[in-house]
Amino acid sequence: MSARPLLMIPGPIELADETLAALGSPGPSHLDPELIELFGRSLEDIRTLFGSADAQPFLVSGSGTLAMEMALHALVAPGHSVLVVDTGYFSERMAKMVERLGARAEKLSARAPGSAPSPGELEHALSAGAFDAVTLTHVDTSTGVRLDVAAFSEVAHRLGVPVLLDGVCSAFGETIEQDAWHLDAVLTASQKALAAPPGLALLTLSRAALARLESRATRCPSLYLDALEWLPVMRAYEARKPAYFATPPVHLVRAVAQSLSRVRREGMGARVSRHAEVAKTFRAGLRNLGLPLVAEETLASNTISGVYYPEGVDAALVGALRKRGYVVAGGLVPSIASCYFRVGHMGETGLPEIERFLSALGDSLAELRSR
Ligand code: PMP
Repeated sequence: MSARPLLMIPGPIELADETLAALGSPGPSHLDPELIELFGRSLEDIRTLFGSADAQPFLVSGSGTLAMEMALHALVAPGHSVLVVDTGYFSERMAKMVERLGARAEKLSARAPGSAPSPGELEHALSAGAFDAVTLTHVDTSTGVRLDVAAFSEVAHRLGVPVLLDGVCSAFGETIEQDAWHLDAVLTASQKALAAPPGLALLTLSRAALARLESRATRCPSLYLDALEWLPVMRAYEARKPAYFATPPVHLVRAVAQSLSRVRREGMGARVSRHAEVAKTFRAGLRNLGLPLVAEETLASNTISGVYYPEGVDAALVGALRKRGYVVAGGLVPSIASCYFRVGHMGETGLPEIERFLSALGDSLAELRSR
């Protein structure tokens, strides 16, 4: 057992030493050349790592929920209709936000937890109504279901409907190709597969989305959520010039810049392959232990797994793992919350870590069954 329990939850996750170290030095001013350089480079990294040549990146203090709301306000205005592809807890949250901003949300829901609507069903739903945007949750953290974003966005693009992608649980662990997939908004948060501390929202708006926003007759009712308020600051930092709208969390910016440069050094392709390898090994281990996944096999993500407790075992498993040095998360989908647990395998997690975790899982099950 390690001296300190390891975080195997879907964020916050374990941090690399160099990211942690970046938090510990005295803060520069937000107008200091060092900070401006780090901020500017981070914006460039976000754009490139999201697979875009010309999208507008934003790095804003806030969690993933802030990123969702800011992206939504950039694409959707009161009176609009939005189709929410619903694969679980965070799609529900998106639908609530749509309604809060005075737009209409229609859900295209998965048949059961662990499944997902098909691109064909999306085509049918979009053709049957007049929608101003569609939202996709790339990986739903409540189930571990991953959508085939390329296939869904191809349908939406063909029908002329802008796409918002919630990549909170996927970005930096799954492939995202903003330009090739015609994604109007992509968002994530710092605490998941980027392996940085929680607290920063990362998002990009395509050129087309930004142009539509700039020509919209009405402004976003919230000052903080209005991408147009942040735009001059992001443009200034990218041009390596000082600017201010709201004080950036300078220590966090340093840490995120460090994590982004780790991703850049590893290479996105290599990083996604590593995540896929870890997920494959984890799923094989679960099969050996007789533990079924919540997600249908073909929909299982690289970054998180929802796992059903086997017959005769319950949430005591979470405590048994904690005793062995691992923190995992409980179930989140209300209808099955007491029947499963969730394991994050993203960021710095590699094969040795997942193999040690599988062994602790096997020991924990044996302990509970011997009672
Ligand atoms: N979307 C998804 C897919 C998430 O997994 C989460 C967080 N688990 C959020 C949105 C919300 O992010 P946060 O908790 O950082 O506000």
